[in-house]
Amino acid sequence: MILPVLLVLPVAAHADPFRPSREQQIQLGERAAKDLKAKEKVLPESDERVKMLRSIGNRIIAKLSDKDKNWPYTFDVIDKNEVNAFALPGGKTFFYTGLLSKMKTEDELAAVVGHELTHAYREHFASSYADAQKRELGLAVLLTILRADRNMVTVAAISNQLLFDLPFSRRHETEADDRGTDAMVLAGFNPTGAANVFRMFQELKKGGASPEFLSTHPDDKNRVKRIEDRIKKMKVTWGPLKPLPWAKP
Ligand SMILES: [Zn+2]
Repeated sequence: MILPVLLVLPVAAHADPFRPSREQQIQLGERAAKDLKAKEKVLPESDERVKMLRSIGNRIIAKLSDKDKNWPYTFDVIDKNEVNAFALPGGKTFFYTGLLSKMKTEDELAAVVGHELTHAYREHFASSYADAQKRELGLAVLLTILRADRNMVTVAAISNQLLFDLPFSRRHETEADDRGTDAMVLAGFNPTGAANVFRMFQELKKGGASPEFLSTHPDDKNRVKRIEDRIKKMKVTWGPLKPLPWAKP
C-alpha cells in the first residue's frame, strides 16, 4: 500500500528537495566550465568558428520564451578532435572543433545548439540528479526527507565529472530534439539541417566510430525519422541551407 501514502504527502506544494536549484545549477556549470578551460585549449573569440557559434546561439536564444531566455548562456569552442558538444547546467555551452569540422551548414550547427540549449533551460541535469538520488534512498528515508521540506542538495557533493557521467533519459533527448528543432526554425534556420546532422551522427556510429556525442546522447534509430516527420508537419517555409564558411564544398 505504498501508493496511497505517497499520494497524501504534501510534496506538490514544495520544491523537490533533491533537485539542484537554479542558483546551484549555475554554480555547478560555472565550476565545471572553469575546470574545463584550465584543462583544454579554448579557441579565442576572434576565431571564425567561435564567432559563428555565438552568432547562431544568440539568434536562437532571442526566440526563446522570456523564462527560457533567462539563463547565463555562453558559447565556447574547444580545440580537440572529438565529435561532441554539450551545455552545462546553467547554460555554458561548448562545441569541439572535431564536431564543427564535420558540419556542412549553419543549419546543422543551429540544430545542435537548439538541442543543447534545451537540455540547459529545461534543467535536464537537475531532474536526472534528483531522480538518481531518490533511486538510491530507501522509501523510509525518502519519506522522512520529503516531509522535512528542505533542500538536500549541496554543490560540493556533486563532482564536475558527474555533470558528464549522469546520462539524460530518452525522454530528455526527445524533448531536446523536438524543442531544439522548433527553436532553430523560429530563429530562421532550415530544419533539414537537424535531420542532416542527426543522420551524420548515425552514420558515424555505423562506421565504427563512437563519437562522444553519441555515447552521451543515446542513439535512437527512430530519431531522424521523428525529426523528419516533425518537419513535414511544420506550416512554415524556410530558406536554402547555408554552407558554413569553413566547410569543404
Ligand atoms: Zn542531448
